[in-house]
Amino acid sequence: MPETKALSEPQKALRKLGLDRDIDLALHIPLRYEDETRIVKLRDAREGDPVQIEAWVTDSQVAYRPRRQLVVTVDDGSDTCQLRFFSFYPSQQKALAEGARLRIRGELKGGFLGWTMMHPAYKVAGGELPEALTPVYSTVAALPQPYLRKAVASALARADLSETIPPDAPPAPGQATAWSLGQALRFLHHPTPEVSLAALEDRTHPAWLRLKAEELLAQQLSQVQSRRAHDELRSPALATHAGALHEQLLAALPFQLTSAQRRVGEEIAASLARDRPMHRLLQGDVGSGKTVVAALAAAIAIDAGWQCALMAPTEILAEQHFRKLIGWLEPLLAPRGLRVAWLTGSQKKKERGAMLELVSSGAAALVVGTHAVIQEQVQFKALALAVIDEQHRFGVAQRLALRGKMRADATPSPSSGRAGEGGSTDALDEAAAQREPHLLMMSATPIPRTLAMSYYADLDVSTIDELPPGRTPVVTKLISDSRREEVIARIRGQLEAGRQVYWVCPLIEESETLDLTDATETHRQLSEVLPGVLVGLLHSRMPAPEKKAVMSLFTGGQMGVLVSTTVIEVGVDVPNASLMVIEHAERFGLSQLHQLRGRVGRGAAASACVLLYSAGDSGKLSDTARARLKAMAETGDGFEIARRDLEIRGPGEFLGARQSGAPLLRFADLTTDADLLEWARALAPLMLDRHPDLVERHVARWLGGRQDYLKA
Ligand code: ADP
Ligand code: MG
Repeated sequence: MPETKALSEPQKALRKLGLDRDIDLALHIPLRYEDETRIVKLRDAREGDPVQIEAWVTDSQVAYRPRRQLVVTVDDGSDTCQLRFFSFYPSQQKALAEGARLRIRGELKGGFLGWTMMHPAYKVAGGELPEALTPVYSTVAALPQPYLRKAVASALARADLSETIPPDAPPAPGQATAWSLGQALRFLHHPTPEVSLAALEDRTHPAWLRLKAEELLAQQLSQVQSRRAHDELRSPALATHAGALHEQLLAALPFQLTSAQRRVGEEIAASLARDRPMHRLLQGDVGSGKTVVAALAAAIAIDAGWQCALMAPTEILAEQHFRKLIGWLEPLLAPRGLRVAWLTGSQKKKERGAMLELVSSGAAALVVGTHAVIQEQVQFKALALAVIDEQHRFGVAQRLALRGKMRADATPSPSSGRAGEGGSTDALDEAAAQREPHLLMMSATPIPRTLAMSYYADLDVSTIDELPPGRTPVVTKLISDSRREEVIARIRGQLEAGRQVYWVCPLIEESETLDLTDATETHRQLSEVLPGVLVGLLHSRMPAPEKKAVMSLFTGGQMGVLVSTTVIEVGVDVPNASLMVIEHAERFGLSQLHQLRGRVGRGAAASACVLLYSAGDSGKLSDTARARLKAMAETGDGFEIARRDLEIRGPGEFLGARQSGAPLLRFADLTTDADLLEWARALAPLMLDRHPDLVERHVARWLGGRQDYLKA
């Protein structure tokens, strides 16, 4: 849009709402409708009805009780009604004077004194009645409804709504393409009065189906496009062979892999062997053993002479979680003259410098750390595999940064006799293509299938659907905070049996300051009622060495109870802990609760999770909180929990949408429109092959300038 003159306030508001193009306005679907097509008689109206009447003003006066107001009595020949205005101008008083004949629209309230309407809309009676319902749009103060209505109506007339769904497309489910986009939009903005408002509201009307089908198709097209672009990228092909590092690692493990671990290990190895970047999500419930699978993948990369980076969201996790892994790998690396490097935010300058040197020289075959791994100063010599643990805790930008850590001139380490083996891409191809490391993302928060299909079309998913043997299911109990005493008795019981206990408190973060009241108060209380027991306190603002000290007392078994904020949310592995108490469980999200619960039940002992809830001042839990807690008590299956979470919260949270800016679906709903999604998913590749011109128009229409987000 050329900036020829200054924008008016409403124009600025349109911009702010993202309503720049005609098509954006045309796709701004009304929130609801008002019926101005009919005049009703008061005699026929019912309490609570929004009505439009035409009537004479029979009386008009300012009353002062209970407060100053203009009270206007009107008579439509069938009955009378009082209109009340608490704020009014002299001009309004004049328009509403006795003897005026008005067309009045508002909600009817019955009552002791007969019908009333509060602040109804009115104008002089007469004039034509519109044929369609009047749309009411979501808007902001700077953008008055009538202005927006006009803007939408004229944009709708101008917008290019030509057909983009190809004639050879498979038939859409539910007649979703029976209406053209133009018909659908014109109808949704100005529906005829006899339409079923219920069908409009629950979005099952053919006009709605058409919109959803279009939207899902745009999303799928853009996904396939980004997958194809991704296929143009090149990565080192990392072949496995007999006797290699990853076999040695397998032999060194103190346990046998589960068959699920073996299967996903093979899936990953097959991807790594290709010269296309792997882009794979490894999902598996808490405790299913993802780390060792990542370690095996790392071994493959290292064996081929390349470097591997592992990034975890917190320092404690990075350390706790990978200590084992390093314990397994380091003895195998040392004889090859290779090292493991650590990178964390809390490192001393000197240590950090030494680590950076290891990374850039290639001496560190494995680089483990927090966000520090993606900082600018970190230069890899030959990064071929990036592993991101708890990937949903990172934003798209951070994932991209890690992928960007592979330099175009990266070469495998000369110390490995296997360098470059399997690199089948010819040199020309290689120079032209952008080089990327393979990417393995891990998460215990499984992505529901519909979500994976619609947002991660270029992502492969491997699932560990089996826990290592010998785990006992965790029993979950909902207990009101008023029964805290019982919970403390339970803790005593566990401590006497030689077990350990986690007590998690929510952290309330208000802008700058963290409210640690719950955690410190609980810590004080438990220390008091459990004399002779070491009760520790852990929270995110503690200096790293202090955190470490507390953690090592707990892992070492000297500390009986660990009171903490959510810092233990991920990764911590203390098999002797058998009870997890979560205070104010109603404040946590479902997936978060599930992750927390996964900290117990890691050993053979029967374990329990107590969700302490407090109903607060209202004395009642909110519906969402209730649904969440109920789901937790009913199932221990991470996939089922993720599915319910999607239902309760919608997809935004799964995707980290706030960080990514990925446009979420506005019209389609993955829980109800899975059939339309399947249709769009099948159509997208066909359409790209046969109708590139239609694809271009369709994607531009729906996604405008926003496609890029989807590629991240
Ligand atoms: P998560 O998938 O939640 O990251 P971890 O990788 O931390 O799980 O594994 C949880 C625990 O299970 C660790 O102590 C790990 O050593 C152990 N483990 C992993 N695989 C197996 C297996 N096949 N048999 C027995 N224990 C295993
Ligand atoms: Mg883990």
